Amino acid sequence: MKYFREKKPDGCILCLIYEGSKEVEDLTVYRSGLVSVTVNLYPYNPGHLLVFPNRHIQDVREMSEQEEREMSRVTKLTLDVLDDLFSPTAYNIGFNMGLEAGGSIDHLHQHIIPRYPREIGIAELIGGKKILVESPYDTAVKLTEAFNSFPSQDSVSKGC
Ligand SMILES: [Zn+2]
Repeated sequence: MKYFREKKPDGCILCLIYEGSKEVEDLTVYRSGLVSVTVNLYPYNPGHLLVFPNRHIQDVREMSEQEEREMSRVTKLTLDVLDDLFSPTAYNIGFNMGLEAGGSIDHLHQHIIPRYPREIGIAELIGGKKILVESPYDTAVKLTEAFNSFPSQDSVSKGC
């Protein structure tokens, strides 16, 4: 799969995505004034997303109170949307902070990784045996639709 149109772009990939640069594939599925959600370029599972502040910061301690509130709101909304679309049974959620933690991305970002029953483990993934059941492009299309059509995040009851 080809994520970059030509060569690896210079600069921060999340900033390039936010700025709408032609150098990167835009897999953004949701954006508010302060926070964006994009499908991970190298998904571990279908629905593996990155939630990141639009501002280029590198440390959770640099987040303003507004950004923190917005991260929290968007994280919850994202979980609701993923529940609805993929019905995972569990999640890994965590910040990558710093280059060593986040591969080549030093722009603060939070991973949301849906987990499914009987998925194969990280060893098989590294061994190249993991077969993704859908491309991140297809995931992005589905998720964009789901975010757009999702009822107000304040809705209390999902019914049974
Ligand atoms: Zn950045």
